[in-house]
Amino acid sequence: MKVTILGSGSAYGVPYAGGSWGKCDPNNPKNRRLSPSILIENEDTRLLVDMSPDFKQQAERHKITLLDGVFFTHAHADHITGMFHLPIFMAHYQNCNLPMYTDRFTRLGIEKLWWYMFHETISPEYSGPGRPLWNEIMEYHDFKVGSLDVKPFMQEHGRIHSLGLRVGNFAYSTDVNDFPEESYPYLENLDVWVVDCNCVENTDKSHSNLEKSLGWIEKFKPKKAYLCHLDYTVDYDTVSAMLPDGVELAYDNLEIKL
Ligand SMILES: [Zn+2]
Ligand SMILES: [Zn+2]
Repeated sequence: MKVTILGSGSAYGVPYAGGSWGKCDPNNPKNRRLSPSILIENEDTRLLVDMSPDFKQQAERHKITLLDGVFFTHAHADHITGMFHLPIFMAHYQNCNLPMYTDRFTRLGIEKLWWYMFHETISPEYSGPGRPLWNEIMEYHDFKVGSLDVKPFMQEHGRIHSLGLRVGNFAYSTDVNDFPEESYPYLENLDVWVVDCNCVENTDKSHSNLEKSLGWIEKFKPKKAYLCHLDYTVDYDTVSAMLPDGVELAYDNLEIKL
């Protein structure tokens, strides 16, 4: 199995629109971050996790034309707005609807945003191939996408929740500020954990920061951890020098082999 970090950035990426780099050194390519998304694949299945506003660039960069499904972690804009490309993307490359996996709460949020796009009476031109084929899932209920066994679990994300997912001994926990106890078993005995570290110090209560993420890693002891959803306070070299063995910052285009 291979996991590709398509976007290691926080909601707005680095630099921000207009070119503000914050504390990040613009000369280090690892500081240039697209919005959050990953691709999980094995020999016969490709599962995209979230469709970020940078989906077009991410799909071009990684030659993503064939997908077996999309898993949505939650309905914040930085995780779903790439869905704008779905009808043309699917009609062009696969000529079918695309299976999408998420819980009812997230699906309702997504449908609210795209109220015009997937409503046949409002937009009959979108009634052909390239529509979402919704598969309603529930946290703590495993499901299959192709040959991948996916285990979704609950995460707290400010006043809403997000879904983490585990596939084999890999887990992805973006957009999280705490975990309910029921999710702990999903975070144990991991080979690789990619986990939220939105900022160096806490400025956003719906996310984690460096101290909190390192505390989780100490608690769950994955063999390897990568910090993701990094905002412009997280300079790659400065923060990397503060990390213990076995913990690294994620960066765009990083490929993790499992
Ligand atoms: Zn986010
Ligand atoms: Zn979020």
